[in-house]
Formats: sequence, structure tokens, C-alpha cells
Amino acid sequence: MRVLLAHALTPKRRRIARVLTAAGHEVFETDDAGEALARCRSWAPDVALIHAECCGEIICDIKSDPVAYGTAVIMIERPELSPEAAVAGMRKGVQDYLIEPVADGEVLTRVEAASRTKELQHELVAQGARLEALLREDALTGLSNRRAILTQMAGMVSGARRHGHPFSIAVCDIDHFKRVNDTHGHKAGDEVLVAAAHAMGTHLRQEDQLGRLGGEEFLVLLPDTDADSAMAAAERMREEVAHASTPVPVTVSIGIATWEDAETPEAFLARADEALYAAKDAGRDRVLAATLHGRT
Ligand code: GH3
Ligand code: MG
Ligand code: MG
Repeated sequence: MRVLLAHALTPKRRRIARVLTAAGHEVFETDDAGEALARCRSWAPDVALIHAECCGEIICDIKSDPVAYGTAVIMIERPELSPEAAVAGMRKGVQDYLIEPVADGEVLTRVEAASRTKELQHELVAQGARLEALLREDALTGLSNRRAILTQMAGMVSGARRHGHPFSIAVCDIDHFKRVNDTHGHKAGDEVLVAAAHAMGTHLRQEDQLGRLGGEEFLVLLPDTDADSAMAAAERMREEVAHASTPVPVTVSIGIATWEDAETPEAFLARADEALYAAKDAGRDRVLAATLHGRT
């Protein structure tokens, strides 16, 4: 591992460095606070062993730096260190203390323990991020799941209200999908779902969002898009699905709606849903737009 060692007294620093190097660790030595901080930023050591007397004040800079904060800091202190001062240091981010005189074996044990703790902390953060991503993701298609896409939609409704920009949505439902499962099996059905989802996303803009509402039903968010442009976008999606190289040919029916002033996200989605049902009734493989209060 990489260890930064900042100590004012050369003989002591050399001795600690020898112990760490002999154990196979990479050590950078300095007796200067500015250099110690710069090294923490540029080199991102696993552990920094810092002599409080010469460099103690850099703890706050290390812990507030976007790169250096990941370094576990062990402070080398005099025996007079009071419990209150130790607690105050820990609040600033000191992970552990070595009290002088420091025994060789203790240096090694503490540095390796601090590094393990640091690794565990990073693993926990990464695991948290992975779990959060899973909570937002639909496992089959990798798209936003129902909860995530509806949360995004509510955010975009709020943005449209505040900025007075147009905002349209499209609810897409694969036609006669039950037949695909019944005729070709559930596995083929799953493959069709993934391929159709991919086809729908082909021509979307960077800021558009596609999510799976559930089953064979998808929601597309089209910010800054008025009714005419939403119709054009939905028509392209419909064509993409119809011409996609899905394992079994399928078509999609789409209901679109453009947000009306003061409309709740729920009412907005309900209008797009009604337009979708009207598209199904009208023969499927088509796009229909909702008007206010569900008149299509
Ligand atoms: P319509 O044209 O009216 O939409 O008819 P449909 O058959 O598509 O609609 P229906 O709601 O009757 O059937 C939807 C089918 O989607 C039933 C269900 O088994 C299937 N389904 C839902 N989720 C999945 C999935 O994750 N994988 C697979 N393979 N099938 C799914
Ligand atoms: Mg369907
Ligand atoms: Mg359906």
C-alpha cells in the first residue's frame, strides 16, 4: 500500500519508513505540511502517518479535498494528548493515533488496520451506490423501472410548470404480447421485450427518458416537446418497433399527452393511458394523442 509519512524529526521518520518499506509498503517521506497535503492530493495514499507537531493542521484540508479525503489519517502525538483533544481530532477525520514513543510493531499494525478500515468504507460506499442503481433499474431491460421513471416524470412536470416549457409523454404498449408468450414461450417474450425497448430508444434525444412501467408497457418522457413534435417522435418509435429485428415481429400502440397547466402527474399519465386505450380500440399499431379531460 501507499503510505505518506510526514514527520519533522529525520531519525524517527527514517526508522518508521524502514519498518513500512521492509513490510513491502511504498512510502513517501516529508517534513513539510504543504508537501504532505500536495502529495495526499496528487498521490492518493492509502494511509497518511502525520506527526501532529509539524503537520497536524492539514487534517481539515485533507478531509475536505475531493481526492485526498479517502486517505486514512493516523496522527502521531505526544503522550500528553488529552482525551478531549483526541476526540476533537477524530471529529475532524483522524482515524487513529500513535502515541510517542512509537514501537515498530505498533506502526505496522496500526497502518495496516487503518488501510483495511478504509477499504471496507470504500466497499460500503460502492455497495450502497450499486444497491441504489438496482433500485432504479428494471432487471430485464436495464431501463429505469416504474418507480424511477415516474419520479423523473414528476420532476419534469415540476420543471415544465416552473419554466413554462412544453412537456409531452408517450405510453407504449406492445400489441397482442400475450400471443407472443403463448406461441413462442416466455423466454422469446423476454427477448422481444428487450429488443422492442431498444428499438423505441433508437431515435430519442439525450434528454428524453425511456422507462418500463411494467409488463410490456413503457413510458417515454419528452421534455421541451410540444404536441406536434411528440406525435412525430412517437410515430418514429412505432415505426422503429414495427421494423425492428425482434425474434418475433411485433407492433406497438402509443398514447401521447402534452402537459396542461396545473395538471397533476397522475392526471397527465391517465390522459396518455386513455389515448393508448383509444389507439388499441382503433386497431393497434398506431399513435393517438390525448386532449384535455381525456377527449381523444
Ligand atoms: P394488447 O394488444 O391489448 O396490449 O394485448 P396484450 O396481449 O399485449 O395484453 P395483455 O395485457 O393481455 O397481456 C400482456 C402479457 O404480457 C401478459 C403477460 O404474460 C406478459 N408479460 C408481462 N410481463 C412480462 C415479462 O416480463 N416477460 C414476458 N415474457 N412476458 C410478460
Ligand atoms: Mg399489450
Ligand atoms: Mg399492457
